Amino acid sequence: MRKTQRPADSPGDLFEKGMEEQEKATEQMRKYLRDRAKAIADGKKLPTKPSITYKMYKDLTVKEVLVEIFDGKCAYCESFYSSTQPMDVEHYRPKGAVDGDDEHLGYYWLAATWENLLPSCIDCNRKRGQFDVVEEENRKLGKMDRFPIEGTRARDPDDDLSLEDALLVDPTVDDPEQIFRFDREFGVVIPRFKSGKRHRRAMASIEVYGLNRSGLVTDRLHIIRQIDHHLRVIELLTLVRDGLTTSSVAHLRDIVVEVIELELDALFSLADSDRPYAGMAKQLLDGLTPR
Ligand SMILES: [Zn+2]
Repeated sequence: MRKTQRPADSPGDLFEKGMEEQEKATEQMRKYLRDRAKAIADGKKLPTKPSITYKMYKDLTVKEVLVEIFDGKCAYCESFYSSTQPMDVEHYRPKGAVDGDDEHLGYYWLAATWENLLPSCIDCNRKRGQFDVVEEENRKLGKMDRFPIEGTRARDPDDDLSLEDALLVDPTVDDPEQIFRFDREFGVVIPRFKSGKRHRRAMASIEVYGLNRSGLVTDRLHIIRQIDHHLRVIELLTLVRDGLTTSSVAHLRDIVVEVIELELDALFSLADSDRPYAGMAKQLLDGLTPR
């Protein structure tokens, strides 16, 4: 996750038409709550919660801007979703329900609010069983309707959102670097602080977004391996550069041999079965004999 600047203006017609959708939803929900209270008082059958369809939040213009500002990556896990899956336009505050609070109708009044929308991959946004590398067990990971807070939950458009003390990190508001860090050895995300609010926000976000699910950790380890490889090659080439005037030829040759071996390992690892597009890499590398 990395900090991303959100343009201040809502894309396309989102503001105008989205406001209409939200006002209509607010009217319907308030009527539902009145009818429900009356039915309870009269001992009658409870009305059903209105099912509202929102269109504006997934309008093409909204998607285009979200893709552009997040470079085609998921706002939470930074995986590059666009090669294999459609993007989910995700509601930071869930629009239709709140996990663990059956009485909550969802943040329907924010269903088409620009500041509440983020692009997400399927695994971050949907709740399903996945292996958590740090906890070493299968857990229900993924956001869905989860929105943990520490303060007072807003239930109506007139309520103050700032009283909620939201725990989930929003990369367009928070700086994730101040909250998480990456473990270089294991490729997992860990809280930057051992206690306090930032620790609790890190723990909640790691759990809800599933930031230590095994597939994601494997992808991070590939990048860490590449970084280590490049660092070692640069280190060796620096030795060659600095030794050109003073070292023996044999010594320089040893260094160059190591550089070539490192490069070959990195090159052929692109065709390893756990790498993306390994089939293509294998074809391109087949028959290549290092001299
Ligand atoms: Zn994701």
